[in-house]
Amino acid sequence: MRIAIAGFSDETCTFCKDPTPIGRFEPYALRGQAILDDNRGIPTYINGYMKVLEAEGAEIVPIVYASKGGGGFSSWLTPDCFDKYSYEIRDGLKAAGKIDGVLLSLHGAMAAESAPKPEAEIVRRARQAVGDVPIMVTLDLHANEDHELAEAADAVFILKTYPHVDAEEIGMIAAECMVKTVKGQFKATMACRKPGIISASIYQASASHPMKDVFDRCREWEKEPGVYCVSVAPGYAYADVVDVGMSVFAVTDGDQQLAEKVAQDLSDFAWSLRESFAAPLPGTEESVRLAMELVTAGKGPVLLADGADRIGDSTHLLKELIKSGARNWAVPCIADPSACEELEKNHKAGDVVTVTAGGWYDQFSGTPAEVTGKVVYMGRPSYVLMGPMEKGRKVQDKFCCHLDLGENRHVVITQEARWVLDGSSFTAVGIDYKDLDIIALKDRVHHRAFWDTVTKVNIRTSVPGQGPADLRTLHYDNLPDDVFPIGKKWARA
Ligand SMILES: [Zn+2]
Repeated sequence: MRIAIAGFSDETCTFCKDPTPIGRFEPYALRGQAILDDNRGIPTYINGYMKVLEAEGAEIVPIVYASKGGGGFSSWLTPDCFDKYSYEIRDGLKAAGKIDGVLLSLHGAMAAESAPKPEAEIVRRARQAVGDVPIMVTLDLHANEDHELAEAADAVFILKTYPHVDAEEIGMIAAECMVKTVKGQFKATMACRKPGIISASIYQASASHPMKDVFDRCREWEKEPGVYCVSVAPGYAYADVVDVGMSVFAVTDGDQQLAEKVAQDLSDFAWSLRESFAAPLPGTEESVRLAMELVTAGKGPVLLADGADRIGDSTHLLKELIKSGARNWAVPCIADPSACEELEKNHKAGDVVTVTAGGWYDQFSGTPAEVTGKVVYMGRPSYVLMGPMEKGRKVQDKFCCHLDLGENRHVVITQEARWVLDGSSFTAVGIDYKDLDIIALKDRVHHRAFWDTVTKVNIRTSVPGQGPADLRTLHYDNLPDDVFPIGKKWARA
């Protein structure tokens, strides 16, 4: 059995400014054996494919895996960029000789200038090379998909956890389906629905209502005979694409009617919960005030989650924390390349510096913040993630400067957005994260896998940004009118 694996994965924030050229992918693109080496032992989709295929004794044919590395977001993929990797998958498959099946690791929230539904187009291009062999796809739950992908692919499998800790498991489920299908023991049959709901990522945590209820219902259905896997992607609201929003995929063993019934049931169920995907959240001032009240009442430490900042330069929470007089806090990312250049050129650890940083990217970022503090750490930290997400993954950050502002207040000026998934990123720059009352992160949900074990309260804040909780602050060109709650049909004042 020869199974090809490939990937082309991006979560494209079209509310960011700059397009995404080949250059954003190419330094991180993996080809051939390097795909397997890079993923081995890390809980990724591809490691999941490998586990099953190797146990089966199948030959794995790795083609190409392209995803944007580094921090920060960019907008629409250029036509060149989309063509390069989607055709590289096709041509790699053509050159690979006889293939029995293809496993594709895609994201689902790609936005490409030249392909309105990029993932379906990637599958169609792969199909040009391999013809009528099974092509099965794994996706992040921030996927915006519809019937086009269901028609192009033989089966679609989507994460059920946010923070995403089941990528390897979903990879294994897909690979097991592939193996059984190639052996003729399974007939992948799929149905898809679009409930017509768009939601901000910050409402999509899998351990909380409403997504917990949705995933529980998927798992109930999966216990039924003939139902193989039921997926609900709440979607990615920050890509202004025609198929934005939630989608449902149900995979059964040869029973189309059952697949349709399950997909419809989940679609109806999600629709019944639609109001829960848009509950109001506290703004910047209110969030900081709430955090301070909780700390004073002995209910800390508190995590403030700014889910809106995609670039890392937003200063809203930092400025409010300074203004409020709070102590014992850290803001581990204010991205500002020019401030970093200045710091690296003119200063060293131990210096007391005044620096103006952040607030440079767009109208959502806030104004630049001026801070004075002692340089505790300056450099390019490398560290190993503590987990649960991507535990064991080596991280190499770009330039960072940790300033101690006194009264146990810390800010890290960074060359680019820094994804502080767990405590290792704090320790690496000399911040004792266990000694803080308030931690202000720029992330929506992923951080909770680790930080919920450190902090007692997680306050989801509604701050301005390219990925805000309040979707009414964004201008969509492609949003269908009937998508709840911000399509024209539903728009509220
Ligand atoms: Zn995601």
